[in-house]
This record gives sequence, structure tokens and C-alpha cells, in this order.
Amino acid sequence: MYSKKIVIRYAADIVDKPVVYSLVKDFDLAFNIMRARVSPRREGLVVLDLTGTKKNFDRAIGYLKDLGLNVESLSKSVTQNIDKCVHCGTCLSFCSTNALDIDTKTMKITFDPEKCNGCELCVKACPPRAMEINLL
Ligand code: SF4
Ligand code: SF4
Repeated sequence: MYSKKIVIRYAADIVDKPVVYSLVKDFDLAFNIMRARVSPRREGLVVLDLTGTKKNFDRAIGYLKDLGLNVESLSKSVTQNIDKCVHCGTCLSFCSTNALDIDTKTMKITFDPEKCNGCELCVKACPPRAMEINLL
């Protein structure tokens, strides 16, 4: 089974379409809505944790893009706020992908967004809330 968290941004003219229903019915994906910001006749955003076969997941992403929706991995929205980070290292033990690492020369904690899978564990674990999810 394949699982991934994605952010879908809706244009105002597509908010009414049953997009999530189609992901279940047509692509046999299970979903968990992690966040949603949808208002009638306004742009919307939904964060989904999708699970299914990789093939169906890829087909579903193609379907969403064909509809004109903006779809990206939640990991693209994760950032390390350098102004808040105190380099305590708490987040390191939560990061299974090594996106968070320590520079042994400077002893600073570094963040590589290319390795991040958007699990959000560091966001909850970071005492000064330096790991952020930016969903503008
Ligand atoms: S837990 Fe937060 S403050 Fe500590 S190193 Fe990680 S990002 Fe920086
Ligand atoms: S969201 Fe998950 S994978 Fe990304 S940096 Fe934080 S702990 Fe690591």
C-alpha cells in the first residue's frame, strides 16, 4: 500500500465538485481529511492523507490535475523557521527521513525539504514551534 499527504488548492469555480468522493469511488483510495478550508464561491484548500495502490494514486493525481486543481505534496509546505529554531535537536529523533539533520561542524540543525515526507511529527515535537506548515 502507498500512502501520501497532499495539498489540493481549489479555484472558486470548482469548489462545488465532489472531488474527494471521486478519489474513493473511481480510484479506490482511502482518505483522511487533515485540514480543510472551503467556502462557497471562494478558493479552497484541503489536505488529504491518501492511501491506496501507487498506480491508483498516480492516476488520481492525474485526474485532479486534469481538473485544473493545484496538487502538491504536503512536504512542500514544511519549513524550518530559522529565526525561531534554537537548534536543540529535539526534532531529530522524530524525523525518519533524515530531512532534519545536524551539521557536525556548526552543531546547527539543518532541514532538507527534498527528503521531507510531510509527516508533521517535528511540527508537533518542536518546543518553540520552529517547524511550520505553511498553507497559504
Ligand atoms: S526541535 Fe525545533 S528548535 Fe529544536 S532543533 Fe528542531 S526545529 Fe530547531
Ligand atoms: S515533517 Fe516529518 S519528514 Fe519532514 S522534517 Fe518533519 S519529521 Fe522529518
